[in-house]
Amino acid sequence: MLSPKCLRNLTKPLARNYKVLSIETSCDDTCVSILDRFDKNKAPSLLYNQKVTLDSLEAGGIIPTRAHVHHQQKLGLIVQQALSKVQSPMDVVCVARGPGMPGALSVGLDLAKGLSVAWNKPLIGVHHMLGHLLIPRMNSNGKQPQFPFLSLLVSGGHTMLVLSKSVVRHRILCDTLDIAIGDSLDKCAREIGIRGNMIAKQMEAFINEDIEQAHNIEYQKITLPNPLTNKNDRINLQAFSFSPFITAIKKHLAKDNKELTEANRRNMAYQIQEAIFNHLLKRLNVSISQNADSLVDVKSFVCSGGVSANMRLREKLENELPREITTFYYPELDLCTDNSVMIGWAGIELYEGYNLKTDLSCTPIRKWPVDSILDVPGWIH
Ligand code: AMP
Ligand code: ZN
Repeated sequence: MLSPKCLRNLTKPLARNYKVLSIETSCDDTCVSILDRFDKNKAPSLLYNQKVTLDSLEAGGIIPTRAHVHHQQKLGLIVQQALSKVQSPMDVVCVARGPGMPGALSVGLDLAKGLSVAWNKPLIGVHHMLGHLLIPRMNSNGKQPQFPFLSLLVSGGHTMLVLSKSVVRHRILCDTLDIAIGDSLDKCAREIGIRGNMIAKQMEAFINEDIEQAHNIEYQKITLPNPLTNKNDRINLQAFSFSPFITAIKKHLAKDNKELTEANRRNMAYQIQEAIFNHLLKRLNVSISQNADSLVDVKSFVCSGGVSANMRLREKLENELPREITTFYYPELDLCTDNSVMIGWAGIELYEGYNLKTDLSCTPIRKWPVDSILDVPGWIH
């Protein structure tokens, strides 16, 4: 039973300036950061930021039980390091509560609850995708997307177009029918022999090493699909589909099994990246034109998530989306992929804008649509 004094502390008015410890463990990255909200009219300063990624190179993909153990091994040590480096009391604890793998999430959530109880400070359970969506608003040069805005969330686990009316009101306009764009890029890149963590990032670098060679289609023309185009009674479908690209690459390689030169591989990489981005752009334009009435006031476009680090994608968005969209926002490059700074920032927006906190009885949420931020148990208003 909490004493009346404890309860009073948990519902105390917001401090003028405060420090936020934030934790992200929804997938394979163990992330901890500390933000100093020293002035509400300026971007918080980042006092500590660490990310340790599970090495899944040999396993060929993320195994949930291995991710769970990875977070158990790393999280306590990183939090200890963060606190010993910053040497200052924390005022708020933010943690990714979902969506994601429940085992992985629970490692972060349980430690965050423990810290919230021990320090008698508020806990804020943050939606992971809300973090991706809001992070461009944490901007030190004062240029922030204002509501309403459109967001394209492109990561290893998600591909969606979202219309955001406020920090807590979002509508999903377009979603993937199968896998995420990052997953598709990674798997296609693996098929043509590119290796590493974040294989799509390596593929972009590989293409850019010799862009003229990459463009030269004489090396190897691949037939790549253009999923979900109008056909029979399917007209203007608002959806993405990325798994057909993997099937097409496998088919192409099985048919034409001569050894690939570096020039072949670079040119194939270019064609894959172009075809996947062309599909993305085509479906985005369909969705935007199908929702024209709801988008009359929308001038700003956010692109966030790991794949938003890709410069070719940014170029295509800026050139191929309708001219009514005039301003584009991206996170800083190291905040495109999963991180805990975005969890801390989204927590700050929920805390300052809505005075929202999360009850200590909350549990991880495996599936939590971004259009249902407040529709889950555990919020304290
Ligand atoms: P996230 O799930 O947000 O952490 O993003 C991870 C995904 O982003 C992986 O599929 C990465 O391969 C992909 N990614 C990271 N950097 C790039 C890049 N520069 N170009 C394309 N994809 C990238
Ligand atoms: Zn993510």
